Amino acid sequence: MYDYLIVGAGLFGSVFAYEAKKRGKKCLVIDKRDHIGGNIYTEKIEGINVHKYGAHIFHTNNERIWDYVNGFTKFNRYTNSPIANYKGELYNLPFNMNTFNTLWGVVSPDEAKAKIEQQKTVAGITEPKNLEEQAISLVGTDIYEKLIKGYTEKQWGRSARELPAFIIKRLPVRFTYDNNYFNDQYQGIPIGGYTTIIEKMLEGIEVKLNVDFFEQRQELESLANKVVYTGMIDQYFDYKFGVLEYRSLHFETKVIDDTTNYQGNAVINYTDKETPYTRIIEHKHFEFGTQDKTIITEEYPSEWKPGDEPYYPINDDKNNETYKKYKALAENEPKVIFGGRLATYKYYDMHQVIGSALVTVEKEFDQ
Ligand code: FAD
Repeated sequence: MYDYLIVGAGLFGSVFAYEAKKRGKKCLVIDKRDHIGGNIYTEKIEGINVHKYGAHIFHTNNERIWDYVNGFTKFNRYTNSPIANYKGELYNLPFNMNTFNTLWGVVSPDEAKAKIEQQKTVAGITEPKNLEEQAISLVGTDIYEKLIKGYTEKQWGRSARELPAFIIKRLPVRFTYDNNYFNDQYQGIPIGGYTTIIEKMLEGIEVKLNVDFFEQRQELESLANKVVYTGMIDQYFDYKFGVLEYRSLHFETKVIDDTTNYQGNAVINYTDKETPYTRIIEHKHFEFGTQDKTIITEEYPSEWKPGDEPYYPINDDKNNETYKKYKALAENEPKVIFGGRLATYKYYDMHQVIGSALVTVEKEFDQ
């Protein structure tokens, strides 16, 4: 008999399994995929660690979490500085003095602020009613038209005028010449890829891949005293209050033989409406790779329907209300712990998943 059956070998399930084992508990980890790591999985191809589920950059302000992940592997000094490509014009992200200088030729922060203010005034929006109005009221029309509109409309599959304003409550605008995307104190990429971290977490723990919890539910549940469930919460309750909606993505990965350096940066966003993908990732640049070949991945947003890979929860009122009903049921399942992005219907960065797994561990074992 196992103490815990852990459904999902992603970051949440793996942190929990590691901490439970440390406390002498016996765990069985299952995953329906053919690999561990969930969405942070990296696979070595041609000597390059390929981020199979999109670009993953670790960043946090929390020293305890930074020390925790560094206990599994060393991190490099990678700093995320994405570039936006709008019809061949290149701009630095996040919006900063480099962006404003390229866009308007302004040199000082005061000139940039004045330009944005002027565009906001001309637009005359007092109470933004949709994403377009919200974006214009925050950064003016030029940035909205070139760097936000096309990208956001591709990402969400609908017009910015039909999207709610709350999606962009704030926009990262910086009046310094600083291209570092994140404000966090700690940032980097694990040397050797993210899969190494998960391998270390799951060392000495029984893991079964290609096992879907719902295909053998009763049998699996009977193997353990408790279940840690990191799959979709609506599926756990047989969709009784309806389906929670997501946005999906698909990735097209290509090995490029005839150049060692395809785009000169790990992440380039394509912000026009016409290019069908939202970004191209060149994986070797996450680790300053010097391999003979290079590997790129185009990221295409797509509509989600049940059965597709769920990526981004659509946290609008309707879905949040439905989630609340599932959450209430989950709270009445004493032998099941629900955790991670799918079971809590929430977008989490990696440091947040680790933080929430560690809080769960403390509640389970130390209180
Ligand atoms: P998951 O990794 O999804 O793990 C859940 C696991 O459960 C999966 O392996 C799944 O196969 C398994 N499972 C589900 N249902 C079943 C079932 N019925 N039976 C068996 N197994 C099941 N975070 C950052 O900090 N920085 C970034 O730059 C970043 N970039 C991202 C880019 C993209 C495109 C996306 C989508 C996410 C990004 N994230 C990033 C977030 C990061 O991926 C998540 O924080 C993290 O992967 C969540 O871990 P998890 O364990 O909650 O979920």
